[in-house]
Amino acid sequence: MSFRVCIACKGIRVYPYAGFMTGQRYQCQDCDEIMVIPLEFENEADYQHFLGIDMENE
Ligand SMILES: [Zn+2]
Repeated sequence: MSFRVCIACKGIRVYPYAGFMTGQRYQCQDCDEIMVIPLEFENEADYQHFLGIDMENE
């Protein structure tokens, strides 16, 4: 099962946001970021790999 990840804080608590006037959006429950296209991963291993790369870049 794939899951969505916040583009701002990398959290996984991203849920569809009811933007009836503006189209589909997603909102992060951790940082309240609203995004059109969140990151999406097929499994947790891919997500962990992404987190590792992200830390290396910083
Ligand atoms: Zn977030």
